[in-house]
Amino acid sequence: LPVQTASDAPASAALLARASEVIPGGVNSPVRAFRAVGGTPRFMASGSGPWLTDADGKRYVDLICSWGPMILGHAHPDVLAAVTEAAARGFSFGTPSENEVRLAEEIVARVEPVEQVRLVNSGTEATMSAIRLARGFTGRDVIVKFAGCYHGHVDALLASAGSGVATFALPDSAGVPRSSAGETIVLPYNDLPALEAAFAERGHEIAAVITEAAAGNMGVVPPAPGFTEGLLRVTRANGALLVSDEVMTGFRCSASGFYGLEGPYAAGAPDLFTFGKVMGGGFPTAAFGGRADVMALLAPQGPVYQAGTLSGNPVASAAGLATLQGCTPAVYERLDVVAHAIADAVASELSAASVPHTIQWAGSMFSVFFRDGAVTGYDDAKDQDTGAFRRFFHSMLGQGVHLPPSAFESWFVSASHDDEAVDHVIAALPAAARAAATP
Ligand code: PMP
Repeated sequence: LPVQTASDAPASAALLARASEVIPGGVNSPVRAFRAVGGTPRFMASGSGPWLTDADGKRYVDLICSWGPMILGHAHPDVLAAVTEAAARGFSFGTPSENEVRLAEEIVARVEPVEQVRLVNSGTEATMSAIRLARGFTGRDVIVKFAGCYHGHVDALLASAGSGVATFALPDSAGVPRSSAGETIVLPYNDLPALEAAFAERGHEIAAVITEAAAGNMGVVPPAPGFTEGLLRVTRANGALLVSDEVMTGFRCSASGFYGLEGPYAAGAPDLFTFGKVMGGGFPTAAFGGRADVMALLAPQGPVYQAGTLSGNPVASAAGLATLQGCTPAVYERLDVVAHAIADAVASELSAASVPHTIQWAGSMFSVFFRDGAVTGYDDAKDQDTGAFRRFFHSMLGQGVHLPPSAFESWFVSASHDDEAVDHVIAALPAAARAAATP
């Protein structure tokens, strides 16, 4: 099957041409541009439940779910009602208001080690602020991160990052001062001996280790058994903090995120967590939080400055709160059923077409690596047949299934993916698997 061309999506192609005049690359976040797969990115006009409708009126089963937030599906009636009600009372006050308190209480109630949170507007802000706080608390400058983990476009964390950067095979970004990246040590994921060696050499300089609770930005790579315990043991022994980035996994892998699946830990708890995506229900809100004695260092109480005109926005907080309240046990059960039905069918169709593949999981997050053998870190993740993925992606797109447009991403489902949507995905798989098998 040929790569989809502009003639398959004329309205999107026209919008992309207009967008490219006024927006670099025509998109406001790089992975949307289809750079890794080629073809015309679809401009969406609306979403309802598991379905997206593009500017040409073509419908797709959505397996991106806004990269995580839309856990209840698009335009969920309860979230829509909460947003409408909040918006009718005013959009932003620049003063404290009750919705942000309710959202903070909901997060603190769910994730046991989190005693306090500060609300921000994006996952990037959450990790940036958590790192500043860890540096302020420890009086140290060096940050350890893992290759293939993505924590947003924070200068210090754009070293060997996954997600869009992995797709573009950029080891780093232009414009990041050497001094910022120079305070960052990048280690292989799931490699405790490498961590121990780094701490043996520079332990007294290291403020924090930041890790994705389960990596999702090089495709899904869960922590090996004992890895998180090891991170806790080593950071505790050296007076460094552990920051668990749950922007992607938070409130998706379980009601209390990946922590709810893997924790509590014998060696202690992560000192700080970052959240985003699901907790904003599709609106720009995110958070960082953790130990009260660490959070006490934040302005206005303490000397670590952090602020935001729209932080704790009442409409975004209402969307997040309604989404979290909608995440009942039945929702998590449905996510599991949907994810496994789709992944099982992907595996059997790719097997039938003799396409090498490996599916990996973190809760109901999964990704399909087009290679044989387990992926434990970024080098493994990069060692896959991205051409096979590209052909698979375009066949699915042509049949009305919108996958993440990169082989280095988790697939996301929602509780609104009903049997009709799941059956639509499964029906598209045989042709897509054959396309993947045919260079
Ligand atoms: N951390 C993780 C684990 C993420 O997956 C992301 C976004 N994909 C971020 C941080 C950055 O969040 P945002 O895009 O909201 O800035």
